Amino acid sequence: MGLFGKSKKEKELEMQNKLLKEMLAQQSAPKAKAPAKEKQVVWQCRYCGVKNTRWQSNGMPDPGICNKNGKMGGPKGPHRWVRIMTK
Ligand SMILES: [Zn+2]
Repeated sequence: MGLFGKSKKEKELEMQNKLLKEMLAQQSAPKAKAPAKEKQVVWQCRYCGVKNTRWQSNGMPDPGICNKNGKMGGPKGPHRWVRIMTK
């Protein structure tokens, strides 16, 4: 009985060691490379100063309608986007 008890305990220890080694292996294993973080670009309208932040790959914001672009009483022109910042 005594021998059996000992071997059982040894087995448990082996299991614990195995689990511990697996955990350590997982921790030291190189992590999967995260996709490169895309940059954000801040655009600002030259006329009205409104800002628009977009992902770089999305390019320039939609022209939209600018309240400051165009003559008084006339048709409104589009925003004029200028890149002011890249985050
Ligand atoms: Zn504008």
